[in-house]
Amino acid sequence: MTEINGYTRTCGLIGNPVEHTLSPVIHNTLAELTGENLVYVPLHVANSYLEDAVKGALALNLLGMNVTVPYKSDVIPYLKDIDPLAAQIGAVNTLVSVEGGYKGYNTDMPGLYRAMCADGVEIAGQKVLILGAGGVARAVAMLMAQKNAAQIILLNRTVERARKIADEVNAITGKRIAEAMALDEYGKLDAKEGYLAIQATSVGMHPDVDAVVIEDAAFYQKVHTGYDLIFNPWETRFMKLVRAQGGKANNGSKMLLYQGVIAYELWTGRKIEEAYAKQVYQKMCQAMGL
Ligand code: NAP
Repeated sequence: MTEINGYTRTCGLIGNPVEHTLSPVIHNTLAELTGENLVYVPLHVANSYLEDAVKGALALNLLGMNVTVPYKSDVIPYLKDIDPLAAQIGAVNTLVSVEGGYKGYNTDMPGLYRAMCADGVEIAGQKVLILGAGGVARAVAMLMAQKNAAQIILLNRTVERARKIADEVNAITGKRIAEAMALDEYGKLDAKEGYLAIQATSVGMHPDVDAVVIEDAAFYQKVHTGYDLIFNPWETRFMKLVRAQGGKANNGSKMLLYQGVIAYELWTGRKIEEAYAKQVYQKMCQAMGL
């Protein structure tokens, strides 16, 4: 643990709730490994206090913050500046101290990309299914388009939300690459070579560990690789169903790791080498009781 003294810089996580976060493990381990005089603490912010929290962080000279549910979009009006990628995604998960305020970034999207590279998951040329059409699904859809997926199909309970994201992706890329589908229309999926399926809903998260958006084995026969953004439980019901049909499956733990690594790089201006990322990942696994 970093020795706290008069020069210690503070970073934190604002959200509600923040009590079950693994982010302190990530950042305090990175501070220890890099020798940076920095501590990271969870900061529970009640719903009516978001603006006060950002102003208070500036007043207290906090170096940076992560932002989690439910504030990733709501925090944008209180920023001094916003990175173009975060503005395009419409969600910010990292604040970096700048003159007179904070600049907002989105490290979830590049974090997922680094995680997929680390897990050996190809995007270019793939037919991609995204389950969900929430804040993260939107960022995932943008990433898939940017990394040259062949096709993006967003399946969501509320199909209008999926359609909105598909329209935005098509407008940005200038191609008809993305389309929307209602969850119960999965029978229409027909790619012979199978799909890369990214599970971006909150269904299946602890404590509802037996829940999944699609239960039918016929759906999973069409999936060659499943990527669940949930990491608690470590093996989700979605992952079990993918594996039961012979597909490969990964959870969202490496996305969490790399979104944190990229945030730490933004706060400190230091490039984190892969050997350090691996050590942080081991600490995360220990904290999860694995
Ligand atoms: P969100 O904006 O609240 O979106 C939730 C999505 O889940 C929506 O598409 C919603 O469908 C769907 N959904 C919720 N309950 C459902 C149900 N009972 N049946 C079918 N669909 C349902 O959430 P988010 O911020 O995008 O986060 C989504 C997931 O990503 C969360 O589980 C979160 O843990 C995970 N995540 C992981 C990381 C990481 O680092 N690994 C980072 C960020 C987020 P409707 O549109 O129909 O409501």
